[in-house]
Amino acid sequence: MTDVTRMTAVQVAALIASGEASAVEVAQAHLDRIAAVDDRVHAFLHVDTEGALAAARAVDERRAAGEELGPLAGVPVAVKDVLTTKGVPTTVGSRILEGWRPPYDSTIVERLRAAGTVLLGKTNMDEFAMGSSTEYSAYGPTYNPWDLTRIPGGSGGGSAAAIAAYEAPLAIGSDTGGSIRQPGAVTGTVGAKPTYGGTSRYGLVAFSSSLDTPGPCARTVEDAALLHAAIGGHDPRDSTSIPQPVPDVVAAARAGASGDLTGVRLGVVSEFSGEGAEPGVLAAFRDALDTLTKLGAEIVEVSCPHFQYALPAYYLIAPSECSSNLARFDGVRFGLRAGDDGSRSLEEVMSLTRDTGFGPEVKRRIMLGTYALSSGYYDAYYGQAQKVRTLITRDFTAAFEQVDVLVSPTTPFVAFPFGSRTGDPYQMYLADLFTIPTNLYGGPGISVPCGLSEGLPVGLQIMAPTMADDRMYRVAAALESAVGVLTPPAL
Ligand code: GLN
Repeated sequence: MTDVTRMTAVQVAALIASGEASAVEVAQAHLDRIAAVDDRVHAFLHVDTEGALAAARAVDERRAAGEELGPLAGVPVAVKDVLTTKGVPTTVGSRILEGWRPPYDSTIVERLRAAGTVLLGKTNMDEFAMGSSTEYSAYGPTYNPWDLTRIPGGSGGGSAAAIAAYEAPLAIGSDTGGSIRQPGAVTGTVGAKPTYGGTSRYGLVAFSSSLDTPGPCARTVEDAALLHAAIGGHDPRDSTSIPQPVPDVVAAARAGASGDLTGVRLGVVSEFSGEGAEPGVLAAFRDALDTLTKLGAEIVEVSCPHFQYALPAYYLIAPSECSSNLARFDGVRFGLRAGDDGSRSLEEVMSLTRDTGFGPEVKRRIMLGTYALSSGYYDAYYGQAQKVRTLITRDFTAAFEQVDVLVSPTTPFVAFPFGSRTGDPYQMYLADLFTIPTNLYGGPGISVPCGLSEGLPVGLQIMAPTMADDRMYRVAAALESAVGVLTPPAL
């Protein structure tokens, strides 16, 4: 049998549906691959061997009973450790939730199980999804399969690296400011942030509730679209879930694969051209624009004057919401409790628990957010940032009157060496310069590999209007048909 770990999700599903391989064989091949490489990659925080094999067996039994299987039945998937999994550890990359086994599944995980996918385990991430490199994980970083001395992006570096290292064909991430797209870009994989509210946040450990969006990671655009379709759609348990079906992203990806973009208008944001990005990244971006033009697309320069304020606005809004969301980790209800020896007051135990359980970046954000929300400063900081958010949304709305989608490099720089940005939080924040505006607006964005710079992957970001997720899949699939899928050096 050919190596199933090299196959796309579409190929794996076909193999199982035809009976050429059982779901158990496919699951075992991926578990073996994890056992062979994950000591070097560290994409996983927890591998659920028994759960995966049991799920695979159930798929094989359903097939044997003649049941019609869905398009992803038997396909292995890795899940970012930000989503609750019933009975399976969920840490959010933090000591404060070490050992916590949630009593329930998140909606995304529930839908993954219903689709017959096989959950391999939980992937590494920056603590509470705050970061761009996985260096802020309390359990040690993930290593980029392209170069093990470099970061795999973050916060969802584990999910992206698991895919790039052929440990799983599919993974789930969450994107608050770029945490699906940026790891996708620097690992040469595809990562999509759906429209906010297009995928459920029920059971997603909250960082910034008005921005958090779970979404798919894959090696191909079609695989990402299939995963998106499987997890998306209305969820009555999430009050911000959109009560409408997800647009047909799978059909859009398949249409785009023909490589015809005739009549599609792509907007290049003038405020994003140049400043802050590495020359090699800009060169790959320009090559991608040439390719897209050859496929029939029309390039239009558009101005989004408020995008330059996106980063500061985000770093007020996200910490403000996190300072409120993370108040629940008090040593009483979940996970860690420190110093509860009968000699300390409740306040002392809470304070000691939070001091021990949270890492430095999480503490920095809680302090920033608490300050920004405090009386006397609320209007000047949080209130002002919300006004900027409105202006950014207006920029998007105006741009989408002229063009179908916006395009930019996904990240200003390729995967950077460990330790090179941890000394200065601002340098780390810059990794999301191009991805954050989309989160503030609420629209969808995808990163698709567009080439290499210095031997490392570069991603093209495609941003679409809210609930027009299909548009970005079409353009991404067209680019992929011309550029091809990137293959990292053998591990
Ligand atoms: N890197 C950004 C941050 O640190 C975005 C993280 C994310 O999307 N979860 O907040």
